[in-house]
Amino acid sequence: MKWIRFERDGRASYGLVNEQTVAVADFDLKDILLHKRPPITAEYPLDSVRVLAPIPHPGKIICIGRNYAEHAREQGAEPPTKPLIFAKFPSSIIAHGQLITWSPELTQQVDYEGELAVVIGRAAMRVKVEEALSHVFGYTIANDVTARDLQRGDGQWTRGKSLDTFCPLGPIIVTADEIPDPQNLRVRTELNSQIMQDGHTRDMMFSVAYLIHYCSQAFTLDPGDLILTGTPEGVGTGRTPPVFMQNGDRISVEIEGIGRLENTCKTI
Ligand code: MG
Repeated sequence: MKWIRFERDGRASYGLVNEQTVAVADFDLKDILLHKRPPITAEYPLDSVRVLAPIPHPGKIICIGRNYAEHAREQGAEPPTKPLIFAKFPSSIIAHGQLITWSPELTQQVDYEGELAVVIGRAAMRVKVEEALSHVFGYTIANDVTARDLQRGDGQWTRGKSLDTFCPLGPIIVTADEIPDPQNLRVRTELNSQIMQDGHTRDMMFSVAYLIHYCSQAFTLDPGDLILTGTPEGVGTGRTPPVFMQNGDRISVEIEGIGRLENTCKTI
């Protein structure tokens, strides 16, 4: 199933996407994560609704740094020997189509990171690798937008990763039954229609299953939590000369079988 959250006539709802329509499910997120069968109350053309972020207030956004070896190298770092965990504040989430904004007084090095995002469905505490994927509700797309100057200047990453609007998410969550192997997905990022990242999830250092296992040894993964699984090579800061996003730029992340997440940049 393909879920979106959307607004129509001033009301936010979850809906099931079917070709060019969305069937309104009178459900909240908790029911959806439990895989209950939704009662359908209406059906609208997809282009008549405003898309919202599919998980607006996750308890946690867990991010994995340098999970693709070539991306670690372009950052001047050795690939890690164990998962590198950091966090983004949930208040950074925006929807497909919303503006990524920042003040040039705060940062002048805003970069994109296209990533596969995992939506936890069932609480996971100290789970084995072999059982880990059974805790996944589905998959969506994230852009782990990063202020590189703040990331490097602060000595730790939270502020540079967590500016308001720095976590575009969605538009669709595809349930895990439709993605039997999360390590078999192409991830592409385009900046103003130019391909900047063209990676594949088979190149992750640590698989989705291992990441869930690893994180769950330390803290409980709750329903609705997100894991951003790291970005492939091709980020702006790794280029010669470096490329940072500018006012008016369009950035999109496309993942095979899930869809396309597109946002425009605006300095404020
Ligand atoms: Mg990232």
